Amino acid sequence: MNRAELHRLLRCTGEEEELLYKKAAEVRNSVTGNAVYLRGLIEVSNACGKNCLYCGIRSGNGKVQRYLLDDRQILESALFAYKNRYGSIVLQGGENQSPLFTGKIDRLIREIKQQTDGRLGITLSLGEQHEETYRQWFESGAHRYLLRIETSNPELYARIHPDDAEHSFRKRLACLESLQRCGYQTGSGVMIGLPFQTTEDLANDLLFLKERDVDMVGMGPYLEHPDTPLYAYREQLLPQRERLRLALHAIACLRLLVPDLNIAATTALQAIDPQGREQALKAGANVIMPNITPAAGRSHYKLYQNKPDYEEGAAEMLQKLETGVREAGCRIAFDQWGDPQHGKDRKTVRP
Ligand code: SAM
Ligand code: SF4
Repeated sequence: MNRAELHRLLRCTGEEEELLYKKAAEVRNSVTGNAVYLRGLIEVSNACGKNCLYCGIRSGNGKVQRYLLDDRQILESALFAYKNRYGSIVLQGGENQSPLFTGKIDRLIREIKQQTDGRLGITLSLGEQHEETYRQWFESGAHRYLLRIETSNPELYARIHPDDAEHSFRKRLACLESLQRCGYQTGSGVMIGLPFQTTEDLANDLLFLKERDVDMVGMGPYLEHPDTPLYAYREQLLPQRERLRLALHAIACLRLLVPDLNIAATTALQAIDPQGREQALKAGANVIMPNITPAAGRSHYKLYQNKPDYEEGAAEMLQKLETGVREAGCRIAFDQWGDPQHGKDRKTVRP
C-alpha cells in the first residue's frame, strides 16, 4: 500500500470499512494465527522527569500524587501474572534516569527472572534512557521495549512537547535506534486524533513504523486531560468516537502493511468504549495488556480523563476478557511470550 491508498483506507466508511477490518483479521489469522497474547501491565511509578504537553502525569502537573511501587509490590504483581499464566509482563512508568531507579529496575528484572525460572517474559516501557542502561536491562533479562514515537511528523512532535533538548524528536529516534542495537524486540507507536494531526500524518506514521522495522506497535486514541496544556485545543478535536474509529482503521491498515507484527489493543480504546479492545482484535490486533498494577498506584496513573482504573487481573475480569476475545474470533494463548514473527530471523533477538 502506498501513501495515497493508506490515506483513503484510513477514511473509508460503510462496506469498505467492514471489508478492511475483515481482511485485516484474516491476514492476522493466516500469518500469526488467532492467538491473543497477554502482557500484565504494572505501572511502577507515575513520577516523571518529562513534561509532555498531552500527558496527565507530566512533571508540571502539581495536582498528581506521586508514587513509586516498592520492590515487593512489583515482584508480587509479576508473580501474580506468572501464576495466572500471562506469559509476559510490562513494567511501565514515568521517565526516571536516576541510578537509584535504573538500579531498582535492574534488580527487579533479575529477581523476576530468577523467581520464574526465566519463564516470564519482561517488556519495559520506561521512556528515554542512556544506551548503557538499555543494554544493562537487556543483559539482565528484559527482552522487549516499548517507546512510542508519538507522531512521526517532527513539526507536530514539537507542538505537543516543550521546546527543549529533553523533548527532542531526534533524541527519541536515537533512543529507538539504541534499543534496536541492544537487541530488544522494539515496539513503538503513535497517538491518534491529536490536535493539529492530519490523516496524511497518520498515513506517514504507518509507513514510518514499517520503515523503522519495529516488531511491535501500540497505538491508540489521544484522550484529553484537563490539567495539561493540550486541553486548550479540545474544541478542535475529532469526537472521541471518531478517534476510536480512526484508531481501528489505523490498526487494520498496519496489519495489512506489515502482516507479521504484534499489534496491541490499547487501554485508550477501552476508555472510549468498554468493548474497544475487542473491536481492535476484530480489526487485526493480537496483544492485550490487562492492568495488574496494585491499587496503591493505579488510581494515580491518570494519563487522560476516564482512564479505566480497575484491576483487571481478578479472576472474573479475566473470564470476561476471555469471553470477549472468543467473541472477537480469537483465543487467549496462556503461558506464552508471544514474540512477534517479525524480526525472528534477526541474530540479535533472543530465542
Ligand atoms: N514515560 C514512558 C514514555 O513516555 O514512553 C512510558 C509511559 S507513557 C505514560 C506511555 C504512553 O502513554 C506514551 O507513549 C503516550 O503515547 C501515552 N499517553 C500519554 N498521555 C496520553 C493521552 N493524553 N492520551 C493517550 N495516550 C497518552
Ligand atoms: Fe512522562 Fe511518558 Fe507522560 Fe511524557 S508520556 S510525561 S515521558 S509519562
